[in-house]
Amino acid sequence: MNIILLGPPGAGKGTQARILVEEHGMVQLSTGDMLRAAKESGTEMGDIVADVMARGALVTDDIVIGLIREQLNTVNANGFIFDGFPRTLAQADALTNLLAAEGESLDAVVEMEVDDDALVARITARSTCGDCGEVYNDNTKPQPADGKCSNCGASDFRRRADDNEESLRTRLMEYYKKTSPLIGYYYAKGMLTKIDGLGEIATVKAAIDKALS
Ligand code: ADP
Repeated sequence: MNIILLGPPGAGKGTQARILVEEHGMVQLSTGDMLRAAKESGTEMGDIVADVMARGALVTDDIVIGLIREQLNTVNANGFIFDGFPRTLAQADALTNLLAAEGESLDAVVEMEVDDDALVARITARSTCGDCGEVYNDNTKPQPADGKCSNCGASDFRRRADDNEESLRTRLMEYYKKTSPLIGYYYAKGMLTKIDGLGEIATVKAAIDKALS
């Protein structure tokens, strides 16, 4: 089954994608993670995207479509989870075509709804383990007192360069202007399921499982 997790920054797409990977053996394709990896690798593309990402603007369609294209021949017995992609209508059309070229198609689009105040609160409190990507939140899931990641034991907690109030405002604006039209696009295709993304991680997970069953 190939699915898209759709929602604004901070909706919890990455957190839920990681659970789906663990429980269902699906493959997570996060363009945000791919772009951050490119940024850290010091490649030419990494340098180009670093500034765009830090501001909270969208990277060009060509770049992210290229990244997804490279990953689609990965072995994916249990399907792909697209997390943070597509973010524009052009990316959505490209995804349909790329999947078709592999003899695949999309099965479902899960829209995670979270109100704007909660998004801002979540993102400004967010940190992650630099080693395994486990996500922490100062209010709801603080970093362990012993300074070690509860998932992998590393002591390398990081905050994202774009998790500040100004970049977040840009990210939200980009979402409402360019990504939110995808909600109507997938609704019209009969693929959209909306879930409440505001509850606890396990509650949201249960709603996603129900949407996919
Ligand atoms: P968020 O937590 O805001 O949903 P992501 O980790 O998915 O963030 O993405 C971080 C940044 O990477 C975005 O603000 C944007 O600059 C860039 N990015 C990620 N995915 C895409 C995409 N599909 N199209 C354009 N830019 C993207």
